[in-house]
Amino acid sequence: MSADAGLRTVDEHLAVVLDGLGALEPIELLLLDAQGMMLAQDVVAGWPLPGFDNSSMDGYAVRAIDTRTASEATPVILSVVGDVPAGASQRSGMGPGLAMRIMTGAPIPAGADAVIPLEDTDRGLARVALFHPVRTGEFVRRAGEDLPEGAPALSAGAVLGPQQLALLAAIGRDRVMVRPRPRVHVISTGSELVDVGTTPSFGQVVDANSYLLTAAARDAGADSYRVGIVPDDHRRLLDVLESELLRADVLVTTGGVSMGAYDVVKQALSELGTVDFVRVAMQPGKPQGFGQLGHGVPIFCLPGNPVSALVSFEAFVRPAIRRMLGKSVIGRAVVQALALEGAQSPPGLRQYRRGVLHREAHGGYSVSFAGGPGSHLIAAMAAANCLVVIDEEVTEVVAGSRVTVIPLLLSQR
Ligand code: AMP
Ligand code: MG
Repeated sequence: MSADAGLRTVDEHLAVVLDGLGALEPIELLLLDAQGMMLAQDVVAGWPLPGFDNSSMDGYAVRAIDTRTASEATPVILSVVGDVPAGASQRSGMGPGLAMRIMTGAPIPAGADAVIPLEDTDRGLARVALFHPVRTGEFVRRAGEDLPEGAPALSAGAVLGPQQLALLAAIGRDRVMVRPRPRVHVISTGSELVDVGTTPSFGQVVDANSYLLTAAARDAGADSYRVGIVPDDHRRLLDVLESELLRADVLVTTGGVSMGAYDVVKQALSELGTVDFVRVAMQPGKPQGFGQLGHGVPIFCLPGNPVSALVSFEAFVRPAIRRMLGKSVIGRAVVQALALEGAQSPPGLRQYRRGVLHREAHGGYSVSFAGGPGSHLIAAMAAANCLVVIDEEVTEVVAGSRVTVIPLLLSQR
């Protein structure tokens, strides 16, 4: 049972976040701008692949029947009546008992039905000696054997990696409808914050969160933009949010959501009535703000400690980005691992510890902790490659037991 009644569970909060959130309206993009994105239309082949019967070897186009008696001892000799280079614009033709020199990819001349590779001939120019018979169709790539004209090439939902972009190009599609990347704008709040590049005076802290979250959002597939720092000032915050609203699909802020006197994000946005500030049964990341601004732009107000910001992002923002991208699977894959050390966890809270996941020689995983539970431990966070999840009801993990781990694999773009 929760030691802290009235908390929302992680799953409940995620359900609130995802409620009503869907894939963004499709847009048309040029192929390379669509890399990594999800196709929002079915695409059929406007022409066959290959587009014409062509040679798969450098050699001679022949009629198979003319080669059937060929051997090393008694080669078949054919007159060579011309060359067919790749890119030949006219279909050439040849009569029975003749051959044409042909290059890889060049169209098979009318009258020929096979290709004999150079290395099975004497490579003659006027006349050629063939040392082996070839079968009908041998070394010929048939028009449409890869993809017939009008056949489905890719379906809506396909992710456009390099191979899919190659296919689209090959069938003549220079632009396609895709689900756009959500534009995620990241704002750090806190009057103690200074920009990287400035040496902090006493009491100042360099803004790390906007880098963390802009990078994390990009890694999750968003087009992310680092807005920068806003001090703990009601008016300044609302002004910045109002202007960012115009160009963002998602807003993310960090800091200012706790109980403190200067927690202006919570104060300013709760007044608007469209952003809720709740406490979620997790550690770190208990204070969370979520709601909509303007014309329904989702806004996440994450706590300011960097580790809390990362854990909150993983738990709520990342799944939202994946949902907006149109992904069917929006959560990260988890693995089970052997805990190499023990840990304590508060009752009623789902604890996310930073960990280092190791692949064991015999298969399977083991995990050790990277630093303690403190949510200010940036160096330990940077040493980690996973989050270790300690469920709400578990208060102690003993060394040697199995734990659930979320590997923080890079780049899902
Ligand atoms: P807050 O959530 O605003 O109370 O901040 C909690 C802690 O996180 C404080 O120690 C802040 O200085 C620190 N913090 C807040 N925002 C950032 C940031 N953008 N980068 C690094 N540390 C931060
Ligand atoms: Mg603050």
